[in-house]
Amino acid sequence: LPEQEAFDIEYWLLEEAKLQRMPKPKSLAGRIAFITGGAGGIGSATAVRYLQEGAVVVLADIDQGSLDARVEELGKRFGKDNVRGVIANVTSEAQTIEAFRKTLVEYGGLDILVSNAGISSAAPFEDTTLEVWDRNISILATGYFLVSREAYRILKKQKLGGAIVFIASKNGLAASAGASAYGAAKAAEIHLARCLALEGAPFGIRVNTINPDAVLRGSKIWQGEWRSQRAQSNRIGEDDLEEFYRKRSLLQRSVFPEDIAEAAYFLASDLSAKSTGNIINVDAGNAVSFTR
Ligand code: NAD
Repeated sequence: LPEQEAFDIEYWLLEEAKLQRMPKPKSLAGRIAFITGGAGGIGSATAVRYLQEGAVVVLADIDQGSLDARVEELGKRFGKDNVRGVIANVTSEAQTIEAFRKTLVEYGGLDILVSNAGISSAAPFEDTTLEVWDRNISILATGYFLVSREAYRILKKQKLGGAIVFIASKNGLAASAGASAYGAAKAAEIHLARCLALEGAPFGIRVNTINPDAVLRGSKIWQGEWRSQRAQSNRIGEDDLEEFYRKRSLLQRSVFPEDIAEAAYFLASDLSAKSTGNIINVDAGNAVSFTR
């Protein structure tokens, strides 16, 4: 090589090495995220992922004990000023509005909503009481409506775009025995997300849905009746459920809250700048076939 060219290459390699050593900019730096059900398994895993990428997070939940523990734990890991907790029942319009007001007072804006607060309920169709039906519709369908409407209003007013992520469920698309009320409410969430994507697009507000299949570990909703009903309907012991779901999956892998959080990161960040109105199935492949 001519001397000058060799010098140029060496110089370029040194510059490249310098760049590699520089800390990478965090992709959600300066963003403000509001996560409902933030004290639960998927909500808190998502909060961790966002905090890792430099966002500040507000966790909204009804479970005071879990919320306090989560906020303290995340505050220790990522800095107290970067995490807030707010008690809010997503079925209450007043509490939802107040939770967003507090977010604006505390952090001065909003960029990301993860609508995730949820419950489980499992019963054969004929045993589904009106109370169970109403509870599912109110927490899941109405709750997602109230929370996303509030976030949408703020995002639209700010004129800076934004990302809304719905954590729905495979059950919102595929029928599952014992999950009629839950599945119908999840179907409402999925459709609501698409309507919101349509109306939000001119304002740069993107709305996408994640459909998990069974996420057993770290999730409170897998305790109690849901767990025993699933074990009974599959004729296995409760302790064998995780292995059962793993073996049933196309990829032969279990899904964890961190897997949902990774998709929620993708959908909240600029990596998905060209995606709206979509559904990502995080289900180890189960959505490809009716038999899974
Ligand atoms: P989780 O029970 O660990 O978390 C849910 C959180 O929502 C809890 O902290 C709970 O206190 C909170 N919550 C419940 N009702 C509320 C209300 N009215 N207002 C505010 N907060 C409320 O469960 P998870 O697995 O993290 O579930 C999160 C979401 O993922 C839910 O919407 C659920 O339907 C969905 N999902 C879960 C699974 C799974 O297998 N775990 C599968 C598919 C979809």
